[in-house]
Amino acid sequence: MGREVLVLNAGSSSMKYQLLDMDWHERLAVGALERIGEREGRLEHRNGDAAPHEVTAAFPDHEHALEAILATFRDAGPDLDSVELTAVGHRVVHGGTLFAQPTLLDDDVLKQIRDLNPLAPLHNPANVTGIEVARRAFPQVPHVAVFDTAFHQSLPPAAHTYAVPRAWREQYAVRRYGFHGTSHQYVARRAAALLGKAPQDTNLIVLHLGNGASACAIEAGRSVETSMGTTPLQGLVMGTRSGDVDPALPAYLGRAAGLDAQQVESALNHGSGLLALAGSNDLRDIHRAAQGGDGDAELALDVYCHSIRKYVGAYYAVLGHVDAIVFTAGVGENDPVIRTRSLQGLARLGIAVDPQRNQSAERGERFVSPEGCEVPVLVVPTDEEIEIARQTLETVDASRLGPQRAADTGAPADGSART
Ligand code: ADP
Repeated sequence: MGREVLVLNAGSSSMKYQLLDMDWHERLAVGALERIGEREGRLEHRNGDAAPHEVTAAFPDHEHALEAILATFRDAGPDLDSVELTAVGHRVVHGGTLFAQPTLLDDDVLKQIRDLNPLAPLHNPANVTGIEVARRAFPQVPHVAVFDTAFHQSLPPAAHTYAVPRAWREQYAVRRYGFHGTSHQYVARRAAALLGKAPQDTNLIVLHLGNGASACAIEAGRSVETSMGTTPLQGLVMGTRSGDVDPALPAYLGRAAGLDAQQVESALNHGSGLLALAGSNDLRDIHRAAQGGDGDAELALDVYCHSIRKYVGAYYAVLGHVDAIVFTAGVGENDPVIRTRSLQGLARLGIAVDPQRNQSAERGERFVSPEGCEVPVLVVPTDEEIEIARQTLETVDASRLGPQRAADTGAPADGSART
């Protein structure tokens, strides 16, 4: 039995989790509990390759949700009482400028994360609740927070500063933060390995295209530019989010349509993007509609791919030299049409997609550009849970080194590194 890490991703009405054996690189259990607080919730749990174990019940709050998850581990295995958990890793969406690294959780750190709630009101409060109930359930085990924003704390000031009034920047922490950092970091490391290069010698443009979507320019293994901003609304066109729009829209729609700022924000987050253009946020539906001659679906594909292409061009300019373009997440991994259309016309930049490789039924990490292409195009399936577990273990190990050895390795003595 190797070292086991429980990864928890607590949302406002859901709890997703994985139990990973990090020595044997094995996913021991995967589960998701949905509809916390509703009359009927659902938990689906898989022990290895076994058939899913389902529980339908009311889960009034996160405390009950975690209790149900632990009971399911007892009923369907693997039995958490008989494995010695090395650590629990928690996904936390917003780390502000405080957290540039995964951080060992204690009461002070938890308070600091809570203080960031105004920056991510939909996500951080749920993440904090998840941490609180898990710390009560596993009081003897170290808990680590892994932040979606942390990887982008390396953005230079030119890239993270918004040209807005000083008071907004200084008093209200308005700047670009960027999200999906755990995914970009994982994918960048795997892409460098696929290219046979060290991460610190690799420049990449990573396109994380899921329901949420973001682009990241990675220079020598570090994030130097990313498309999401203070919130995850900025940047690429997404499933239900608009991505970039004129920032004067809320005021204009206030005057013209009588909408208040919250209504505009909600519509831009939940009623925009592909959903607004084509009536679905799932690209599989949109392709089907486009093939049937639906003009809205065709426009949605054009708008979506145009937005990606624009970011690729911009990030090429930011990096100067690009070793590869990397696609990941639900769309990036599975949609050859989007990959081709968004990179169309970029041959002058050395970027090309090979039709056969791109269409191949092969899954997993792969090249989809022609042999010898100047800027290879890769598909790398993302795995945020593995990355959270890896960073969790590293943080716990660094905290156990003690002050002297931690100083020697450059790791913070208490496992945290707050900037
Ligand atoms: P999330 O951001 O919720 O984690 P995912 O990364 O799982 O989302 O991506 C979900 C999206 O991926 C779906 O909405 C759909 O548009 C797209 N997708 C999934 N499978 C396919 C596929 N086979 N072909 C095209 N698009 C797909």
